[in-house]
Amino acid sequence: MLRQLTVFEIQYHTRQIGFWIAVLIMFLIGALLISFPDATFAASTGEKIKANGAVVTAGITSNLSLFSMFFGAVFVVSGVMRDQVHKSLEMVHATAVSTRDMTLSRMIGVYIATFISIFAMVVGVFAGQFIPWMDKEALGPINLFYYLQPTLLFIAINTLFVSGFFTAIAAFTRNRALVYVSAVGLFITYISASLFVGEDGTDLLTSLADPFGSAALSVTVEFWSAAEQNTQTIPLIGYVGLNRLVWGLIGLALYVVSFSLFKRGLVTGKSKEHEADDDDTGRISLLPTATKMTGAEVWASFWARFKYEYLTTVKSIPFIILTLMSVALFAITVFVQMKFVPNPALPTSPLMATTVFGSMAIPLLIMIIFFSGEIIWRDKSAGMTEIIDASPVLDGPLLAGKWLALLGMVISLMWVGVFFGMASQIILGDVPINFLTYVNITFVQIAPRILALAVLALFIQNFMPNRVVGMLASGAAVIFFFIVIGFLPSVHPMVQFGSLGAGRWSELNGFSSLLRFGWFGLYWGSLIALFVVVSIWLWRRGTQATLLRRFANMKTRMSLISTTLALLFVAGLIGSGGYIFKAYNIDNEYRSAKDNDLRQVKWEKTFGDNRKDPLPKIRSVEVDVMFNPAQQTARVAGSYEIENTNAEPLEQVFVSMVTRHKESIKKLELVGAVQVTEGENMQEIEDFNYRLFRFEPPLAPGARTRMEFETVFHAPKLADNSSIERNGTFVDSSRVLPQFGIRDQRLRNKDKRRKNDLPELEKRADRTDMEARQRHFISSSSDYVNFKAKVCTDVGQIPIAPGKMLAETSENGKTCRSYQTIRPILNFFSFLSADFEVRRDVWKTPNGRDVPLAIYFHKPHDYNVDLMLDAMKGSLDTFTTTFGPYPYNQIRIMEFPYRGFAQSFAGTIPFSERIGFVMQSGDPTDNKKVDLATYVTMHEIGHQWFAHQIVPADTKGFNVLSEGL
Ligand SMILES: [Zn+2]
Repeated sequence: MLRQLTVFEIQYHTRQIGFWIAVLIMFLIGALLISFPDATFAASTGEKIKANGAVVTAGITSNLSLFSMFFGAVFVVSGVMRDQVHKSLEMVHATAVSTRDMTLSRMIGVYIATFISIFAMVVGVFAGQFIPWMDKEALGPINLFYYLQPTLLFIAINTLFVSGFFTAIAAFTRNRALVYVSAVGLFITYISASLFVGEDGTDLLTSLADPFGSAALSVTVEFWSAAEQNTQTIPLIGYVGLNRLVWGLIGLALYVVSFSLFKRGLVTGKSKEHEADDDDTGRISLLPTATKMTGAEVWASFWARFKYEYLTTVKSIPFIILTLMSVALFAITVFVQMKFVPNPALPTSPLMATTVFGSMAIPLLIMIIFFSGEIIWRDKSAGMTEIIDASPVLDGPLLAGKWLALLGMVISLMWVGVFFGMASQIILGDVPINFLTYVNITFVQIAPRILALAVLALFIQNFMPNRVVGMLASGAAVIFFFIVIGFLPSVHPMVQFGSLGAGRWSELNGFSSLLRFGWFGLYWGSLIALFVVVSIWLWRRGTQATLLRRFANMKTRMSLISTTLALLFVAGLIGSGGYIFKAYNIDNEYRSAKDNDLRQVKWEKTFGDNRKDPLPKIRSVEVDVMFNPAQQTARVAGSYEIENTNAEPLEQVFVSMVTRHKESIKKLELVGAVQVTEGENMQEIEDFNYRLFRFEPPLAPGARTRMEFETVFHAPKLADNSSIERNGTFVDSSRVLPQFGIRDQRLRNKDKRRKNDLPELEKRADRTDMEARQRHFISSSSDYVNFKAKVCTDVGQIPIAPGKMLAETSENGKTCRSYQTIRPILNFFSFLSADFEVRRDVWKTPNGRDVPLAIYFHKPHDYNVDLMLDAMKGSLDTFTTTFGPYPYNQIRIMEFPYRGFAQSFAGTIPFSERIGFVMQSGDPTDNKKVDLATYVTMHEIGHQWFAHQIVPADTKGFNVLSEGL
């Protein structure tokens, strides 16, 4: 009996089309992940570590087995809990089938279905190595045991643990929703445990705390050599073996417990669920009755529907538990971040807003998958379909009510997140709450993509024969578009579903590109609106409305209004899609990772030999920078005075341009030379943004001449990043001034070089190489230069460049400042403009000279300014007595948005907000907690000696001199 029942159970799962769709998707995910050489999972593989080696395969398998949490929950509900869902429990219990056989067969069925779904990914990982684009260099010999062992160790045991766990929950609670809830609970416990143990745990604790075994695997192979990683299978005696034994036994115990809980009669009549049978008996397919409804009636029917669905959802126990769980995860994350991280950030509004949604994302997505199924199928499960479908309710308001209820749930939960984020700021104290930051990060940056996925899940449910299959399919889609796509290299933004690209957020400047946000909003918005219309056309009305029948009926449902709207949305989709495509692929030459590699190969084959061409040296630089922050444009004009310091006459020189837009280059003249426009490689010279000048006659050794230039920079056009921000512009000279010589663009990856027939990359020159010692690491076309600049910007902002400020003037409604250095500096400058607050101080040199100190910062970010001023003075004292005098007239530090670094220019140090201004000041009694603001300030001031005075040669070990301090 057991055998027949088990066969029946397995067939029950596997005869569903949705099951095989899920299996296929999992297979593809496995194949894609392994076959893209730049995918995150495969990133470390290549010449040494093989993509199909023992450890890589085991690592991928153990990580992918985490998906068993999703599949296990779905199959437990559709397998073990089937009778409750179908209300046939009493009937089954009254038959001659023994409880033991029935329960056991169902549990085996669930186990096998879950196992197959995850195993499909391993098969995909195996098959991936035969995909044509797979890099053959990254593959070692095929060994089936490398797949078999992790399959048994991770998938077999994790499936046992997970399905045992969910079956136990099912047996205890008899509530299908709580099974899904427990899936999220399991996930959150798993993340929290790894957060806690990961910070301070011993190897044993770390490896045991992970029910899925990945941590045990990482601990075991941490110090394995490449050769060992390729060929050694995971030792069973050790952390992995112990972990697997413990969690395998726990899984088994859970099975025994739930088996004994599923006793006949125990649940009779106790089921709280009142569900209808999914197998229909009627054979009615209905069309909406032609009724005339007034606007108010339509609204009323929508509103009633919305209210009902929304309230049912947010008042349901699973919603409440899941919300509490995400809040708990948030609290744990914040606690770990503040307590254990060596250089904690201040609990600012942007940090808390992002952390809240880091914790809420996965629970939210699970809720979307679960509740979309609930909402779409609610009438049917409640046995109400016939009544509602025969009533004169219109499809539009009905559907709108359902869909908006789900979106309303998502938005409600996000408000909960905002609330807890702000509450945590109050509890942690000190840092003011910025409500607008929460709204922006939550509803501009995060919400659109989540809401789009919610609509996708609802849309997919339309085409599915029942709720469970719909959950499998929409779950796979959500996993793909939210998780997997992040691991794939350079996915075109037009296929990143729902991603509006608002970009990074900073308190200085808000979002970097709202234009991109608008266009992608139109693009995805149109597609989503189309989903809605098609869903209304295909709405399941009637009990036996098959998909085919619904398609056949679609025509009668296409009213004039809906058809017009649909055409409008199609136009919106094509129009915005066309514009975005043009901006990315035509105006900005969108390149995939592979295109980029090929471009580098082409560069090296064409220009590789020109890398060491003799160059003139720049002696002095004069620039005139005009920032228009409001328009995000800039104009940079100026001149170089250059000298031929070579022993031979200089015949020609390449100039690298800083923009590929030809029309942006207003002027580029080299006195005594003509631009070469005919001859070899002209196309390539243009493609790589170079200009070639020939001196006529050749520039004699020691002779001097001038170059003059003027370039304009315009607002970013979707993908094009100009870095002229509305507030908080920071550009360095290499981004806005033309450079002599060609920039080194050689392909660095060894395997890719070999594949493209490029010679092995030559190593940096030895320290004894006298020829290399003639060049320093900053530039080969300059030593020290005289520098003079005038920088103008909008009134209200402060323009900054290196050097002593000579004058501040007001010209044509602009604020301008002139700067000049008191002695020559490296040919490497920064230009900034923002609405700064300034704090000043003075430091006295040992011989009594006053050096003015200034910190330019975003007004609310004053938390560490005093600390940084102290660090400036302290390090100046120490460095002057230890290394020698400070050579410049002043030191200023300026805050800039988005990026995470600081950079030392002569007497001028741009400093990103995230590397000091909003960090916690550390704890002097705890040497595990670094005061980043002080540390980075001192390091950057150290560069005023090392790199700016002691300039390392372009040889091995140069970074010890420049970054050693
Ligand atoms: Zn440094």
